[in-house]
Amino acid sequence: MNLQTFKGSCHCQAVKFEIDSKLEEITTCDCSICLRKNALMVKVPEAALRILSGEDLLSTYTFHTHTAQHYFCSVCGIYPFHRKRVTPDYFGVNVYCLSDFSPEGIPQRATDGRGMP
Ligand SMILES: [Zn+2]
Repeated sequence: MNLQTFKGSCHCQAVKFEIDSKLEEITTCDCSICLRKNALMVKVPEAALRILSGEDLLSTYTFHTHTAQHYFCSVCGIYPFHRKRVTPDYFGVNVYCLSDFSPEGIPQRATDGRGMP
């Protein structure tokens, strides 16, 4: 797939964003928070994520090393993306927040979050 722009939003549409991605791979993670979110994610460099609206409505949750920034909409509670811990200049984006997106045919990889110190 070529580099494409995908639009995304939280559930209540307060938070809108777009990403540039080839969607070559999507990942799951077995860390304590991704498990609970049942998250399916695509990794994008920070320059490839643009928040179009609702930045002021995003709340941040951190835990453990407090490096990763887990964003969620303070109105509807949906997780749209998080700043990653091992590679903090990258975001993990919740692919189910993208409009017109289907994970079909995209390779999925399970990442080892639980094993991180
Ligand atoms: Zn929302």
